[in-house]
Amino acid sequence: MKTMNEEMNPYRMTDETRKKVRQAHLGKGEGKSYKKYYGKHEHRVVAEKKIGRKLRDGEVVHHMDGNKLNNSPDNLKVFRSQVEHATWHSIFDNCVEVGEVVRP
Ligand SMILES: [Zn+2]
Repeated sequence: MKTMNEEMNPYRMTDETRKKVRQAHLGKGEGKSYKKYYGKHEHRVVAEKKIGRKLRDGEVVHHMDGNKLNNSPDNLKVFRSQVEHATWHSIFDNCVEVGEVVRP
């Protein structure tokens, strides 16, 4: 164990390596969260119709009443980013739904 730490630490500590690890991790996460679902989410299709264009990467489809099964256009709101989405939740409620973020 001691040798292992000595060997790994110098590499792990560089900013470049950290950045690479972070990017690799993010990439994996994106792939997983998107590929988990086959075909399009209904709420995304409805939201795209509502705003009249395709959703962009990073945009979040939010359910106003918190019910993910309610895909009525009136119940859907599109946020430009997860930050805006999270901000909305921090103001109006404390529950942030997961799996809504649009991934490439
Ligand atoms: Zn939300």
